[in-house]
Amino acid sequence: MTESKMNSMINFAKIARHILDKNPDKRYLLVRSNIRDFKLVNQMFGFQKGNEILTCIEDFLYDHRNSYAAYGQIAVDQFVLLVDKDKFSTTDFSCLPKICSEIITTTNFRVHIQLGIYEIVDPHMEVYSMCDRAKLALKSIKIDEPLSAAWYNESIMESRIYNKKIISEFESALENEAFVMYLQPQANTKGEIMSAEALARWNLEDGTILSPSQFIKILEESELIWKLDLYMWENAAKLLSQWKNDPEKKNLSISVNISPKDLYYVDIEKKLLELVEKYDISPKKMNVEITESSFINNPDLYIDLIAKLHNAGFAIEIDDFGSGYSSLNMLKNIRADILKLDMGFLHDSNDLIRSQIIIDSIIEMAKRLDMQVISEGVESQEQAAFLKINGCDLFQGFYFSRPVPADKFESVLKEYNLEKTSTRGSHPKTTRDIVAETA
Ligand code: C2E
Ligand code: CA
Ligand code: CA
Repeated sequence: MTESKMNSMINFAKIARHILDKNPDKRYLLVRSNIRDFKLVNQMFGFQKGNEILTCIEDFLYDHRNSYAAYGQIAVDQFVLLVDKDKFSTTDFSCLPKICSEIITTTNFRVHIQLGIYEIVDPHMEVYSMCDRAKLALKSIKIDEPLSAAWYNESIMESRIYNKKIISEFESALENEAFVMYLQPQANTKGEIMSAEALARWNLEDGTILSPSQFIKILEESELIWKLDLYMWENAAKLLSQWKNDPEKKNLSISVNISPKDLYYVDIEKKLLELVEKYDISPKKMNVEITESSFINNPDLYIDLIAKLHNAGFAIEIDDFGSGYSSLNMLKNIRADILKLDMGFLHDSNDLIRSQIIIDSIIEMAKRLDMQVISEGVESQEQAAFLKINGCDLFQGFYFSRPVPADKFESVLKEYNLEKTSTRGSHPKTTRDIVAETA
């Protein structure tokens, strides 16, 4: 590339500082541009094309330099602008993706330009901090248009601070056993509890209980989830070994979750085999839930893993089935034991009849592929009855029980067993009775 027409970051910061100090009453924006997946562009089309695209953006910004109070380059594919708020409009940049895309003539590939915008509220703030805020705005962009822009707001910073807190406190929380295994019962068509899914909760010191939606995604993104998963698998195995000699519980199994990224950090097959040996339990009691989305990035690795786990005696459940885009294709290649229907089938539908036709057909297909079907998110008697009529084998959902701490699970089980032995008529109808009587 020829020498940059843009200011270096150091010079940009100096110029911007000077302008902000001289015009304390003017409203300015700090705009940071980014090329989406620029590394990919380099890899797909070569560095020469990558450089041409960069030069194209640089020339564009340079040609419009009179519209900006200051301009500079902060990273290879990121430029920064200080702009008078009243003079800024994202439409001024709308032709940029097109002219950049024209550099690539071999395919229909479109260069996507993103803009992160920080409105300078405190002109005394360090220019570098302003650039960081514009970067956070960039990172918050979820839409995938040729030109997309996002404005920084305080909630972006708050969620960043929250994420950092989760990440920094995670390991000591794990060591101090602040994570607790909850169990959610899974019932058969007779309403008997056959198994349970192990679900994590984080007990904070102030008594607050964090639900997985408040930490799992953050742990996945920061590549820490495998540590929690190992902890949960171990706890599940330990509990199964305690249940082994208990006549009421010895036939129960526990399903544990495998996160898509566990594969990179753990020899999953080895670890699970070690656990069944250490706790002297049967692998048949430990079901392994692999979410459907895992298959998108690594189909071959998962096909291999599932075959190995299946051969070792673990029951494999395909979690969240139907939530992704590869559902049917994936089933061609893997031999799972249980299909776990995603809750979306029961919940997010405007057309109940159509969803029911789909559920009915999936269950039939699973049967023909020799798989059991479990439905999660069963919230009403009508849903349970419908699923039962259509051949669903197992049910999990609030209608049966919410996830409960492992020690409370025993009392849920006792309640169910009490119902089983009690004489009909002396008790009001229970969930168990209703599901058993349906169909
Ligand atoms: P999932 O594996 O799909 O787990 C089922 C989730 O559905 C649980 O949420 C459960 O409480 C919820 N649920 C159960 N029945 C109903 C119902 O009838 N209605 C509705 N609306 N929801 C119901 P939870 O416990 O908040 O877990 C959320 C997700 O977090 C799980 O979804 C799983 O993907 C993840 N997760 C939880 N624990 C772990 C863990 O130890 N490791 C990993 N990797 N992921 C975990
Ligand atoms: Ca699951
Ligand atoms: Ca699920």
